[in-house]
Amino acid sequence: MFRRAMRVLLAIVMITSAAVVGTVATAGTAQADGCYTWGRTLSQGMSGADVRQLQIRVSGYPGYGNVLALDGDYGPATAAAVTRFQQAYGLSADGVAGPQTFNQIYALQDNDCTPIHFTYAELNRCNSDWSGGAVSAATARANALVNMWKLEALRHALGDRPITTSSGFRSYSCNSAAGGSATSRHLYGDAIDLTGSPTLCQLVQRARYHGFNEILGPGYPDHNDHAHLANRSSRFWSAPSCGF
Ligand SMILES: [Zn+2]
Repeated sequence: MFRRAMRVLLAIVMITSAAVVGTVATAGTAQADGCYTWGRTLSQGMSGADVRQLQIRVSGYPGYGNVLALDGDYGPATAAAVTRFQQAYGLSADGVAGPQTFNQIYALQDNDCTPIHFTYAELNRCNSDWSGGAVSAATARANALVNMWKLEALRHALGDRPITTSSGFRSYSCNSAAGGSATSRHLYGDAIDLTGSPTLCQLVQRARYHGFNEILGPGYPDHNDHAHLANRSSRFWSAPSCGF
């Protein structure tokens, strides 16, 4: 009797599992993601919070020297960034974000919305709550998230080789301890230091294509042992040993 009951139970579990798998497969968008699910195809001329969520995910694809505005408006720059993202992952590149594009994003996204190869923890080796910097904790954390998506794009462009972060957000006290400048972008959560391989020059040279308008590297004072990628209102790039 017990065995029969177990067999029935097992059959129910298997049928239920198959139904769940079938639902996901036919819906066109993966539901295994705990972070964010898009509910409509997005294209140029549209606007909304879902456009802004898309812009964050493709912020690493603005083209050389550009920074994509995260304004919730799907304009030409967003369409171009989506096209570059699609090209980077071998999708049909039409600048329209539909199920294929969203599924690629879901595949790259963890449940906390960070890209799969980077974590909030490694972007904040200073404290546990993102407090004590030049902006609110929420803003610092949000800035770090955008930077992680830019890093994911950089990592992919460099052949999916691991990238090693050594510093991200810093409170004022962490920044002083690290010897950072009083106006360091690390205080805003939107600066990242990288070490190791790929080489520092490969990192800073390629970073120019992925949405960073503050890039400091070898040859710039105090930057011979790491690459510093950040955001600021106007471009400041300097890595004389790497040719710029
Ligand atoms: Zn730095």
